[in-house]
Amino acid sequence: MILVNKITLLGLITKIQFLMLYVKSFIFSLIQENTYILYNAFNDCIIIDPGCYDDSEKDVLAEYIKEMNLVPKMLLNTHCHLDHVFGNKFVAEKFGLTLQIHEKEKRVLDFAPASGLMYNLPFDNYSGELFYLKESETIQLGEDKLKIILTPGHSPGSLSFYSEKDGFVISGDTLFNRSIGRTDLPGGNYELLIKSIKEKLMILPDQTKVYSGHGDLTTIGDEKRFNPFLNA
Ligand SMILES: [Zn+2]
Ligand SMILES: [Zn+2]
Repeated sequence: MILVNKITLLGLITKIQFLMLYVKSFIFSLIQENTYILYNAFNDCIIIDPGCYDDSEKDVLAEYIKEMNLVPKMLLNTHCHLDHVFGNKFVAEKFGLTLQIHEKEKRVLDFAPASGLMYNLPFDNYSGELFYLKESETIQLGEDKLKIILTPGHSPGSLSFYSEKDGFVISGDTLFNRSIGRTDLPGGNYELLIKSIKEKLMILPDQTKVYSGHGDLTTIGDEKRFNPFLNA
């Protein structure tokens, strides 16, 4: 009887340990953008900022999803600069998903193909229905939650997605390892960006992992201490 209880308990502990959101990252396109797949223990997943540009990059993303037996449930953009939206149309059509963004990114999304031409990176934009994400709302994937944090400045409707339980934030181009997003693009605002970072991100626990739109993984604590733009 005691043995059975121990086995049951062990099984339970193992299951609880796996109840988390896993983060898989890819680096796509000439712009070296970080695309993220968040997936849970039941293989449901969220695709964030699919920056896959050409067919081989689209294959890499689709192959990973297939090999891992993942079921894409949501397509989110932190913001809609071209490097974060290249693969929206592909992902939406392949997995039957509706793009979810902040309302203020609609104009940025509409402008993306024109900026693609300017960068000599033409692409087919997503043109389906849009679902608008709102500040402080929660995205739910099974038992897992992501808090929507509005962090404008790099672009008008930039969002960060925060998992309190698993201790990470997807920061888009708002905050980078030892750097911050540029603010010289249309709709950018330096003061607003700094305010977003200090008031919305730096209040998260120091050990929170930061998965940025470009560059390496960092933590809130490390950026508090070492980010030159926040200590100026
Ligand atoms: Zn950007
Ligand atoms: Zn970017």
